[in-house]
Amino acid sequence: MSHRVLQPSIPPEASRDHPSRQCERSAHKSELATPVGSEDFESGNAETHFPVPFRMRGLSKDDESALKARAVGGQMHPSSLPFKILAVDDSAVCRKLVEQALSGERYTVLFAKNGREALALFAEHQPAVVIADWNMPDMEGLELCRHIRRDSPDLHSHLILLSGNADKEQVVEGLTAGADDYVTKPFHPSELVARVEVGRRIAELHRQIQGQNRLLEEMALTDALTGLPNRRAVEVWASRQLSAAVRYHFPLWVVMADLDFFKKVNDTYGHDAGDTVLKGFAEILKANTRQSNICARSGGEEFLLVITHSDKAGAKSAVERIREQFESRNFSFGNGTVTVTASFGIAGFHEAKPLDWNALLSCADTALYAAKHKGRNRIEFELESGI
Ligand SMILES: [Mg+2]
Repeated sequence: MSHRVLQPSIPPEASRDHPSRQCERSAHKSELATPVGSEDFESGNAETHFPVPFRMRGLSKDDESALKARAVGGQMHPSSLPFKILAVDDSAVCRKLVEQALSGERYTVLFAKNGREALALFAEHQPAVVIADWNMPDMEGLELCRHIRRDSPDLHSHLILLSGNADKEQVVEGLTAGADDYVTKPFHPSELVARVEVGRRIAELHRQIQGQNRLLEEMALTDALTGLPNRRAVEVWASRQLSAAVRYHFPLWVVMADLDFFKKVNDTYGHDAGDTVLKGFAEILKANTRQSNICARSGGEEFLLVITHSDKAGAKSAVERIREQFESRNFSFGNGTVTVTASFGIAGFHEAKPLDWNALLSCADTALYAAKHKGRNRIEFELESGI
């Protein structure tokens, strides 16, 4: 990655003048004096529902894709992640000096002229390193650090404060405010690059750990065989939907599905054949689940589907479609072709006293038992639920 400046807001006249004449003259008149250095998802055409999509907290889409690619065996090295630096300084000359110090390095540098611009660029780009001037008219670097730490608790960015004041008490105040490093002006370009590199290493490590933790979280909520959300995931989702259904008075139905005589498939054709049947049912379930609903494999040959915003007839129609599609699907194993069926138990409420999740599951289970008892490959509603 080559050095790229996204927003070098340096006025022409500033770049023509010598640093010592352009640097802010208020608090740190001598900060640029020496070396070169001083100074950002029910219908037949329903969309396929996939496990609860995650947005990795604190990661941009580019970072997330890169981390996922790496986690599944991709070749992307962490150092190839987009690495951005945000430099904020009210002095055009100081911004220019930071730009010069970082030129030749593989960074994308964003520049802000004040704290407000810096916060906007930070929210948009989530830079790995922020180099912030202490003294700025609208917002001190100290306050900027506090804002970033408070507003982005899940995102680690390495914050470097720049100040002409080398007083230890101010250094402590800066670090206490959330800064990771403190560099005094005038700075040596190589020292700034070295400190930015330290920040890059720490920020990359943080982002790798965050990405891996998110992937682990996603894996913990996904059924590995079918790719459907698992029971835990549907419980998390359902608890929120139940609260909303109660508050906004919309219907909610819990469908418990169980493949009929599944053990025979495993015993006759083997477990690989059984897995194929489970995946086949999952595909039909997904293809018939609206983006606003959720389906899951809750264990073994048992699946769950939660349907919201649909009356009893609508819910039954949606489940009947799944039952019919699965019944008509042929599975070929060796020389034989097999068809498998499923039974469904539905419980829910619509303009009636709402039930909690466990009560709904219990009612759906009772209805499923009834469907099995009445001959399988059928749908039953739990009469005790509020319909
Ligand atoms: Mg300043």
